[in-house]
Amino acid sequence: MIRLTPKGLRRWRTGHPWIFRSDIGQVAAVTPGDLVVVADPAGRPLGRAAWSDQSLIALRRVPLDLDEDTEAGWDRLVAGALDRRADALPSARLINGDADGLPGLIVDRFGAGISLQTLTPAAERRRDALVARLVARYAPRVVVVRNDPKVRDHEGLPREKAVVHGEDPIVWAPFGGREVRFDLLEGQKTGGFLDQQYNHMAAAAFARPGRALDCFSYQGGFALALAGAGLALTAVDQSAPALDHLRANAARNGLHVEALEANVFDYLRELERDDARFDTVVLDPPAFVPGRKALEAGRRAYKEINLRALKLLVPGGRLITCSCSAHMSRADFERMVAEAAADAGRFARVIERRGPGPDHPTLVTAPETDYLKALFVEVL
Ligand code: SAH
Repeated sequence: MIRLTPKGLRRWRTGHPWIFRSDIGQVAAVTPGDLVVVADPAGRPLGRAAWSDQSLIALRRVPLDLDEDTEAGWDRLVAGALDRRADALPSARLINGDADGLPGLIVDRFGAGISLQTLTPAAERRRDALVARLVARYAPRVVVVRNDPKVRDHEGLPREKAVVHGEDPIVWAPFGGREVRFDLLEGQKTGGFLDQQYNHMAAAAFARPGRALDCFSYQGGFALALAGAGLALTAVDQSAPALDHLRANAARNGLHVEALEANVFDYLRELERDDARFDTVVLDPPAFVPGRKALEAGRRAYKEINLRALKLLVPGGRLITCSCSAHMSRADFERMVAEAAADAGRFARVIERRGPGPDHPTLVTAPETDYLKALFVEVL
């Protein structure tokens, strides 16, 4: 049993799943990854949480009953997460960490491939049983472990990437209605940006027919969707391998995409000089605000690209603008777009506010899990 300090108890009562080491009092003998009973300062049990012995976040709440066997309980939560995705798309997140009550556990399915992360001792300890369950349930051709994120360092867990079932980590999977190539070992995150899949599809319906520009295209999430909707598409990214991958995706789907290797900041400036016009522009940059301290510099970078994109749009043109910075709130993001519109002198109408798809739930009591924001904007 682990007792909280009075401050820790106040934190627990906010419903936030993470409790910091400085907010815990007495600790009984526990091993990393144990699903321990958490008690108030007087020793009255409150609930259960996963124990980390090294991270600043010492406890992560899990929705188990106090009298439930912890291993059976963890299995119940895993089965629940998978059952809730019974009707998910062929490529979808099957387990989304805290929001599924399974701290540190991420499982992504890319058609016949599965990629997983175990980012806490609790998830790590139960990894082999999970892989066996996934193999039995989905009969995947390949399963990889993508334990390369930096957060593993904070837990004292080694970073690693490995194929743990099958052989070839490259899969062609149905994604956003198309066949897309994913390199599960080398692709970003767990192999690709699954969290944007529904936004790719919605963007295709929202786009204004004509010329489109996809900035920060990576392997073509938005580009393929928009080209598939009949738009004349230019995709821009500074990564040559990502663009090669995009070209292979386009060819496989019989689509034409012009793929340009360039720095988006420079390229947007060039387009402005040339007085270019587009009917649709997509902005899906990497996180410009990696930490709280970077908020101001990040905001400026977001504003610059949004301002330039708005200037490029014809009247009636459409902007799909995204931010995956957890440290920039939805309100901050919308304020930034407002400032960009004001400076560009355009009437910008928000048609839709979006986030990640339903396979990526966020926990209402942990606002930092709500990192992905997308605004669908029409200019007059
Ligand atoms: N839109 C993609 C994901 C984009 S990830 C999708 O939906 O799948 C961000 C991409 O931005 C990466 O491919 C990275 O290579 C690219 N990138 C980062 N900074 C850049 C810059 N200044 N100019 C061009 N591309 C950049």
